[in-house]
Amino acid sequence: MNITVVCEHNASMDSEEGKKAYPEGLGACLKNLMEETGGSVSLVRMDENGAGALTDEIINGTDVMVWWGHWYHQKVSDEIVNKVADRALRGMGMIFLHSAHDSKMIKKLLGTSCSLKWREDGELERLWCVNMAHPIARGLGEYIDIPQEEMYGEPFDIPAPDELIYIGWFRGGEVFRGGCVFNRGRGKIFYFNPGHETYPTYKLPQVRQLLKQACAYVSPGIPLKEDVNCVHIPEWSIKN
Ligand code: ZN
Repeated sequence: MNITVVCEHNASMDSEEGKKAYPEGLGACLKNLMEETGGSVSLVRMDENGAGALTDEIINGTDVMVWWGHWYHQKVSDEIVNKVADRALRGMGMIFLHSAHDSKMIKKLLGTSCSLKWREDGELERLWCVNMAHPIARGLGEYIDIPQEEMYGEPFDIPAPDELIYIGWFRGGEVFRGGCVFNRGRGKIFYFNPGHETYPTYKLPQVRQLLKQACAYVSPGIPLKEDVNCVHIPEWSIKN
C-alpha cells in the first residue's frame, strides 16, 4: 500500500510546547505511525510550494492520503485540490486530521463550510465510541481519553456522515462528531478531530491503533487503475 502524508511545518510547531510534543516534527511522527501499517509512506510538506511536491505520479500512485494542515490551507493550489479530489472519487482513501477540517481539500469533497467551535485550552477530550462494531474502533473499548486537546465543538457544518464512529466530549459541555466516515464516489474519507500540533496526541497508543485501522478501512484494497472511470465494452459485443 502506498501512503502519502501531506503535512505542514508551522511556527507553532517550533514553540517550546510544539517541540516537546513532537521533537522529530509532526509530519515525521505521522509518517512513522503510518509506516507501522507495513505500507510505503512518503511525506509531502504543504508549506513548501503549497504541496507542489504532490506530482501527478505521486497522486496517481497513492492508495491512502493523510492530510494535516492548519496555517497553510490557502497555499494549496486549486489545481492540486482538483487532482486529489478526482483521485479520491476514483477510490483513493483519505484521512483528514484535526485542523484539516478547514482545508480546501475536505471542503471540496464534502461541499460544506466544515466550520466548528473551538477553544485552545489543552483540556481532556473523551472520545466516546458510538459504533463498537466498526473496524476503525476494533479493540479500542468504549472510549478513548486524550489528556490534552484543543476543544472542537458542535455545530460542525458537515453533511450527515455515512458512518459516525466517535463523539468527543469536553468539560465545557461541548460534544463533537470527531470520528466520521464519508463515502464519496468510489472513495472513503475518514475525519478525526484530535491532533493539535502542541499536544502529543499522535503518540498515544490507542490513537495510533485507531489511525492504522482507519488507514486499512479507507484503503481501496486492490491497486487502483487509471482507467477506473472508463466504460469497458466487452470484446464479444463489438465483434458483430
Ligand atoms: Zn489545533
